[in-house]
Amino acid sequence: MDLVGLAPKLPRPGETVLGDEFVMMAGGKGANQAIAAARAGGQTVFLGAIGSDAFGVNLNARLNGAGVDMRHVRTSYGPSGVAVIMVDRAGENSILVAPGANNTFVGLTEAEQAEIAAGDVLLCQQEIPAETVVAAARAARAGGTRVVLNAAPARELPGELLPNIDLLVVNEVEALMVTGGDTIDVPELLSLVPRVVLTLGGSGSRYVDRDGRDETVPAFRVEVTDTTAAGDAFTGALAVAWGEGRDLVEAVRWANAAGAACVRRVGASNALPTRDEIDEVYRA
Ligand code: ADP
Repeated sequence: MDLVGLAPKLPRPGETVLGDEFVMMAGGKGANQAIAAARAGGQTVFLGAIGSDAFGVNLNARLNGAGVDMRHVRTSYGPSGVAVIMVDRAGENSILVAPGANNTFVGLTEAEQAEIAAGDVLLCQQEIPAETVVAAARAARAGGTRVVLNAAPARELPGELLPNIDLLVVNEVEALMVTGGDTIDVPELLSLVPRVVLTLGGSGSRYVDRDGRDETVPAFRVEVTDTTAAGDAFTGALAVAWGEGRDLVEAVRWANAAGAACVRRVGASNALPTRDEIDEVYRA
């Protein structure tokens, strides 16, 4: 859950600042990308853990309301994962993430593995323990489900995970973190995984694969209000389009439209576009 306080300025250590307002919304990369996928028209099942607190109940309701299938979500005794976010009037922020229940999502039940095996695409992020991502990718591979990893937040990828990734989605910071070094090394990325999508913010995105395809797909021009969650909108839509069997470069183009539709609006999960909104940008 994102707990967002808006204030004239960010408090310094030890300081108390009288804020403007407070808003609460579903957040975290997994939740955002699940909502993005459901709004983009994908039949979306969420695997993860919420806490036994009021935030857990609320998160469950919000994801359900967005059309995400929450049948398998675990409730673990203790707090839900929260992000305490402070934003000043210039848009500068300070964020504290307390993972809570996310860290209890370890190991996969048979039912969870079967659900993964039954899907077209498994979409993972890195806000849960690495061993769970490894287990999920294995279950997907065994069941013929394609695996998309959004390596966010940036961290080094576990060696056991690499052979089971079909498509890696990274922004520039994450691409550098995956390979090390200070420039984006595409051959190095393709030595790790067979296909990569690099998101390039306002410059769009780039698709590369081991068959030698290398295509830069320009961004859609829209009026930019707030770029928060653009990556989540993009990744959720990309997974849906690939799951529908669209060609990957075509899927990337459509995902660019999702990212563009997202940046027109203020906010995070509330700014994730519907399929109609994505198509509207796509066709313009
Ligand atoms: P992240 O939020 O993960 O850093 P990016 O900033 O690269 O991801 O944005 C993801 C995608 O959203 C981009 O590939 C692009 O398609 C779209 N996007 C982001 N910023 C803009 C923008 N200013 N104008 C149009 N599209 C954008």
